[in-house]
Parts: sequence; structure tokens; C-alpha cells
Amino acid sequence: MGEKLGRADWLAAMLVTVGGVFLSLAAPPGPTVYWGLTWSIFNGLILAIGILSTGFITRVLILGLNLILIAGWQLTSGWPSATSLPLLLFLPVLVPLYRKQRKEILAGLVGGLILGGYSTLKENLANPSSWAILGGWVAIAGFFYYLMVGLVVKARQAASLQAEVEYTRHEYQEACKRLAAMEMAAITDDLTGIYNYRYFVQAFSNLLNSRQQPRYLAVLMLDIDYFKEINDAYGHLTGNRVLAELATILKECTREQDVVTRFGGEEFALILPDTDYHGALQVAERIRKAIAEHTFQAEGTAIHVTVSAGVAVWPVDGTDKKDIIARADRALYQAKTTGRNSVCAYQFLKKERGVHE
Ligand code: GH3
Ligand code: MG
Ligand code: MG
Repeated sequence: MGEKLGRADWLAAMLVTVGGVFLSLAAPPGPTVYWGLTWSIFNGLILAIGILSTGFITRVLILGLNLILIAGWQLTSGWPSATSLPLLLFLPVLVPLYRKQRKEILAGLVGGLILGGYSTLKENLANPSSWAILGGWVAIAGFFYYLMVGLVVKARQAASLQAEVEYTRHEYQEACKRLAAMEMAAITDDLTGIYNYRYFVQAFSNLLNSRQQPRYLAVLMLDIDYFKEINDAYGHLTGNRVLAELATILKECTREQDVVTRFGGEEFALILPDTDYHGALQVAERIRKAIAEHTFQAEGTAIHVTVSAGVAVWPVDGTDKKDIIARADRALYQAKTTGRNSVCAYQFLKKERGVHE
């Protein structure tokens, strides 16, 4: 059957039916009323069911039936032709006009003129005024045709423009989605699913340059202890699994607003906004402990790993991004040299060891 019907289609169907019913009831009781009512219901149904949008044959049949119903209505009515001729021009074209079918509009007008011409001239062939009425309506039918075709063309153009707009909008949305996915991929580490080094640098700059600049930014640098041995003992794939699981632990040990990234290889870097030394050391220690106590599973083998961590805090240890990273790294190096599985603060190095770098 037809395409999906909208509220406008139902309204059109209702208007045509109600209009036709009123016109039908204007005639005295008898066949004219039945012809008119049949026409009204038939056209209302066509609009409501939407079958005019189907094949050519169906469309021709429907138009033919329409003209027959109108002919019956007109020929039984006994209305003066001057009244019925305008109706005959309009009634067959209502549905084609709604359906934006220019050929059917032309056929409807021609059919209406033939019927109207017949009834007009039948009344009085010799009366010149009958010919004048017919001549006038032929010209006006031509005018209607061009008027309606203009409407049809405009409606079609509007429909195709709308379709183009819809298509472009869809394309645009798809492109936005692809772009967002690409942007996400550019800042995500494939192996662990957490952010990568690129995002670490971006996030650090963004936080420092934001209008609501945080009071502190703690940076934690973590490195897995003796990771090479894990790879050597269990293979790279197992090593990869350990890295991914460790990233999950890092996420679990931190807050939503903390930035957890894989800095590269088996090193991770975290940015903790609004976190001072006290808080940063607590988090680092929590992470160290959680990892040390965790049992990583690899093909039935339980693996234990530990991490070393270095902590530096902006602006306590410097106001430059690069200095903070270098100092967290320096503290990490210290944690490595003093036995691993430990956390070291840059401030500690500075105060206790006199380190300034
Ligand atoms: P340390 O305690 O001094 O940090 O010892 P380490 O063995 O962890 O340090 P080292 O820098 O000598 O080795 C790091 C190892 O991490 C070597 C490298 O093969 C491994 N590694 C780096 N990236 C990956 C990775 O993506 N997957 C796996 N499986 N291993 C990686
Ligand atoms: Mg390393
Ligand atoms: Mg290591």
C-alpha cells in the first residue's frame, strides 16, 4: 500500500471527505447525493490509505473512477452548468494536486472540461452563451493548470531540497562521529585503554591554562619494577596483559577528575588536580600497595609485580610543566635506586638530599 502517513495526510483526507459530503448534501435526496457521497468517501480513502503513490495503472484507474463518479454526480444533479463547471474543474484534481502529480492534474482538468462541456452544450447547443461559458472555463482551466503545476514544481523542489538537507545533516553527523572517534583514538593507548602520552601533555597544559586554575597539580610517575623479567619469563603477551590490568588498578585507585595515562612502555603518569603533597603521597602509596598486593593472572600462573613512583607538585616544585615532569621523573629514579616498590617525593630529595634539578 502507501507510504507512512502523517498528520497532514489524515487532515487532507478528512477535509476532502467533509467538503464532498457537504456538497453532496446540497442536492435534493436521490442519486445525486449517493454519487457525491461515494466520490467523497472514495477520495478521502485514497488520501488516507495513500494508494495514489503506487503504480501508473492504479493511478490511471483511480483518476478514471474519479471522473466517472463526478460525471454521475454532475449529470444527475440538474445543477446549472455555470455552477457545476467550476466544481468539475476542481474536484478531479484535488488528490493529484495533493500528491504532486502534474500529469494527473492535466488529465483531471481535461476530464472535467469534457464532462462540463458535454453538460453545458447538452443544455443548449444553439445558445452562444453556453459556448462562451465553455470557452471561458477552457481558458481558466489552462490558468489553473499552470498555477497548479507551479505549485507542484515548487513542492517537489522543496521536497528534494529537504531531502538534500537531511542527507547533508546525516553526513555531517556521521563525519562528527568519525572525527570524535579519531580524536579519541589519537589520545587513547590501544593496549590499556587509558589515555596516552599525547593526552597527558594536553591535559597538563589545559589544566594550567584553564580559567579555574587548580591550586595544586600533583604529578605521579610510575614505573614497573623489573618488568623486563616478566616479559622474559612469561612472554610479551603476558607482559601486555599485566600492563592492561595494572592500568585498571590505577583507574580504580584514583578519582574521576584524575588523569591516568600510559606515558610509554611500562611507565605511567598521573595528574591529580587540586591535590597537594600530602594527598599525592597518599594516592601514590595507595596505588603502590594495591599493585603489590594484587595477583596478576597469566595462563594459570600467578604473577606479582611492584611499582616505583616519583611525585612532584605544581607549583611547589616549579611553575613550568617540563620542570614538574622532570622532577617527578627524578624522584622516580630515586625510588628505583633505593630499593624499588616505593614512593619518593621530589621535596624529600630537595630537603634531605639537597638535590636541585
Ligand atoms: P626497572 O625496575 O629498572 O624499571 O626494570 P625494568 O625491567 O622494568 O626496566 P627496563 O627499562 O630495563 O625494561 C622495561 C621493559 O618493559 C623492557 C620492555 O621490553 C618492556 N616493555 C615496554 N613496553 C612494553 C609493552 O608494551 N609490552 C610489554 N610486554 N613489554 C613492554
Ligand atoms: Mg621503564
Ligand atoms: Mg621498569
